[in-house]
Amino acid sequence: MPLYRDEAVVLRTHKLGEADRIITLLTRQRGKVRAVAKGVRRTTSRWGSRLEPFAHVDLQLAEGRSLDVITQAETLDPFNSRLGMDYDRYTAGTVMLETADRLVTEEGEPAVQQFLLLVGGLRVMATGQHGAKQVLDSYLLRSLSVAGYAPSFDHCVQCGVEGPHRFFNPSAGGVLCTSDKLPGSATPAAETVLVLGALLVGDWPVVHAADPRHLREASNLVSAYLAWHLERGLRSMAYVERY
Ligand SMILES: [Zn+2]
Repeated sequence: MPLYRDEAVVLRTHKLGEADRIITLLTRQRGKVRAVAKGVRRTTSRWGSRLEPFAHVDLQLAEGRSLDVITQAETLDPFNSRLGMDYDRYTAGTVMLETADRLVTEEGEPAVQQFLLLVGGLRVMATGQHGAKQVLDSYLLRSLSVAGYAPSFDHCVQCGVEGPHRFFNPSAGGVLCTSDKLPGSATPAAETVLVLGALLVGDWPVVHAADPRHLREASNLVSAYLAWHLERGLRSMAYVERY
């Protein structure tokens, strides 16, 4: 069987037979890959926690007829052990993994931008330098943008006129001017729209200076935007306390 190396984040795992697991990976070079880790569920497993969700690993794999087989794994960043100690960061991180899994739909198709966003997002989440919900919201807006659903928080999505605009509609893809507003649009505070724009580009000083009320409102709108673009809601989102 031909061997190859790749770098990956473990998105999820499930049981296979008595002692094995299928590991769903987001890899740097091959996008989403599902691979078998043999003997990983034995207590004496040589894999340890290296193939748990969140793990950022350097892998060697053997190409199989249906699924590839993991033959070596070296830990690059132990995000799993670092996030496991903080409930809020862990649950927010779980939403990131599930989002990456849902947005990268095709197996074996390179998705390097999604890979880099996920690794960068998990790294920031693990350091604790920004609020867990804001790291999550920023990641969600950016990963949706990479997937082709970039929201607009300054120009009206309908006519392109520059804002600030008062109306936000997830189905329209962002803010709307008074003449283009759709029924049922949210009317967030002007400060909230600024927070959303800052989360999208990673302008952390603006996020840190924001009032908790506006962070909360921004978070709810990000959730609505994500839910609109992923036809089913995320299971893991139920565990993130949305204030
Ligand atoms: Zn307009």
